[in-house]
Amino acid sequence: MTNIKTRNINTQGLNARRKEKNMQFHQNGFHAGDPDIYKRAQNHKELTQDMPNEVDVLIVGSGPAGLTLAAQLSGHPDIVTRIVDLKPGPMEKGQADGISCRSMEMFQAFDFAEKVKREACWVNETSFWNPKPEKPSEIHRTGRIQDVEDGLSEMPHVILNQARVHDRYLEVMQNAPTRLVPHYSRKLIDLTLTEKEVSHPITVTLERIGSGYEGQFEKVRAQYVVGCDGARSSVRSAIGRELVGDKANQAWGVMDVLAETDFPDFRMKSLVKSESEGSIIFIPREGGHMVRVYIEMDKLANNERISRSRMSVEKLIDATNRVLNPYTINVKEVVWWSIYEVGHSVTDKFDNVPTKNIGTQLPRIFIAGDACHTHSAKAGQGMNVSMGDTFNLGWKLILVLQKRCNPKLLHTYSAERRTVAKDLIDFDHEWSRIIGAPPEPGTPLEETPKFQRYFIEHGRYTAGLSVKYTPSILTSHGDWQHLAPGFEVGTRFHSAPVTRLADAKLVQLGHTIKADARWRLYAFAGAGSPASPQSDIQKLCNFLGTSLDSPLQKFTPKEMDSNRVIDVMAVFQQSHRDLDIGAMPDFLRPKVGLLQLTDYEKMFCPDHAAGDIYTMRGINREGGCIVIVRPDQHIANVLPIDGFKELSSFFEGFLIAPLTKSIPNEFSG
Ligand SMILES: Cc1cc2nc3c(=O)[nH]c(=O)nc-3n(C[C@H](O)[C@H](O)[C@H](O)COP(=O)(O)OP(=O)(O)OC[C@H]3O[C@@H](n4cnc5c(N)ncnc54)[C@H](O)[C@@H]3O)c2cc1C
Repeated sequence: MTNIKTRNINTQGLNARRKEKNMQFHQNGFHAGDPDIYKRAQNHKELTQDMPNEVDVLIVGSGPAGLTLAAQLSGHPDIVTRIVDLKPGPMEKGQADGISCRSMEMFQAFDFAEKVKREACWVNETSFWNPKPEKPSEIHRTGRIQDVEDGLSEMPHVILNQARVHDRYLEVMQNAPTRLVPHYSRKLIDLTLTEKEVSHPITVTLERIGSGYEGQFEKVRAQYVVGCDGARSSVRSAIGRELVGDKANQAWGVMDVLAETDFPDFRMKSLVKSESEGSIIFIPREGGHMVRVYIEMDKLANNERISRSRMSVEKLIDATNRVLNPYTINVKEVVWWSIYEVGHSVTDKFDNVPTKNIGTQLPRIFIAGDACHTHSAKAGQGMNVSMGDTFNLGWKLILVLQKRCNPKLLHTYSAERRTVAKDLIDFDHEWSRIIGAPPEPGTPLEETPKFQRYFIEHGRYTAGLSVKYTPSILTSHGDWQHLAPGFEVGTRFHSAPVTRLADAKLVQLGHTIKADARWRLYAFAGAGSPASPQSDIQKLCNFLGTSLDSPLQKFTPKEMDSNRVIDVMAVFQQSHRDLDIGAMPDFLRPKVGLLQLTDYEKMFCPDHAAGDIYTMRGINREGGCIVIVRPDQHIANVLPIDGFKELSSFFEGFLIAPLTKSIPNEFSG
């Protein structure tokens, strides 16, 4: 029996223990200074402005997609990565600003979610405004809803300037063992892939931009190129792919302003529909004063573009005032404004391999983000889906380049992410139609307007949490899903609160997943004492730690820490005070780093105050289960706790036995 009643819970202490910055460092010896700054990798000198002749991965474009990829790769000194952009330096303002709960979960894996939480504006509620039935020329509030449903994610939906998100990634890269920084003022102008069997089959020509560099070009050979170069992607054109879809562009005016108004929901995300002046969306921004306003403009004809010279920010402000009637807005400063024109389109594939050649050819060139899908800003997905693309691709490239995974796994990138993009286009199409449609005439006051209903119904989608990867070599069919229905195979690992056994710290289990290309295996113990040698958890640990069929034995190079490829953690049903850590399997206290110190952070118990993880996720208490999680936080498989054969064969589907001695220790302090 757990001893929860007798626990003397001090709420202040509880909250202090719940505030986590879950870091491990001093693993390879004492390392003075800021633990967020990793030791520079041996042989990694300061990057110079010169481009090397050969790289493993060349990323084109330093927007959210490119930086998410670069940040992952920067932790791997054995992979030569470069990222180029035609711009002269980092972005300062503008473009996207919505950060979904899912992206925040991903930021946690990069260890900067806390910083974003502090600086960003949190979207807590969304309000809806429509024409007054008795006086349609004026708007009134028709509804107000909680923005993110309870229990959907431990992370909030927030708003922050895209430029600040870029800054966080740039910081991760700069502090990484490779000290990676983008090479700015370089434009990709040509890309060729040779069919010959050579190690670096892609040749890229870059043009130097800026005074003093006129007429200068550089040639770089790469093993892989990833085009994160936006909606007019040159990489996409070079591989002969096209954005296909709704050709008619939709134009939205967008402005970030500091303003005074009598509109009561100015600090609330508000969707406002007027009788005949169109729609606007208000998005409160970071800092407590700035607000973003999206103003719907006319739909454009095929290939027509809005002339920026005919448009002015004054016209956008006037339009906002017309929609807001009877309220007014007095703009004191325009921080940034733009006309954002987009259609709904997606490319047929996100890599260079024609569908008919999938069985015979391996992908070498990829496209990600706006380069392969465009859609409106209304659903706030632009930056999120783009980052999601390269979070999916990054670990696959790392494992393939380190010869730990079969390169055929790279095919799954296009297959998985194109489905996500296609769903987004369909959603956005419908959402744009509903927002753009004139108010439904005669809607009774008590009836929820359609756009409000649609918004509520799709809350999970806009939070970025409905992505579900379908079965492949990486994702099982979910034959044992009933053992843990709350960990749905294919979806992202839905974190839950737990107590760390060794030090009673209250943490989120999902935050043990870092953007370090490792697989995670969570063993949820069944009923009975985990201290008993006959317990299911002890048997599993014996198998993992000693059997020749164990994926850890097969796929981890001998010289490396046992958890470097697959990181195993256990969760018990008992309260942490009822378990003796010394009686738990040694395997769950692995020795790590140069000094082979004990890692005490692999065992967890329920956090009874916040909710029991077994109940929250429906985990089978009698038999327990195993949950296998991909490096991008998506659930790959749920297995019985004694499903040793299934466990082995799952990893055999894509991991390969090590040829090389060891993999550098990346982000271990
Ligand atoms: C003007 C503008 C306004 C936007 N406004 C909004 C908005 O209000 N709300 C919203 O949700 N989304 C908005 N977006 C879209 C949002 O910013 C994107 O969805 C998101 O940035 C996509 O990220 P990405 O990394 O795929 O591409 P991008 O952010 O577009 O980054 C592409 C990068 O590639 C670089 N590049 C392009 N070609 C080359 C080349 N040949 N060689 C080298 N580098 C190259 C570019 O300089 C750029 O830095 C806007 C986009 C633009 C361009």
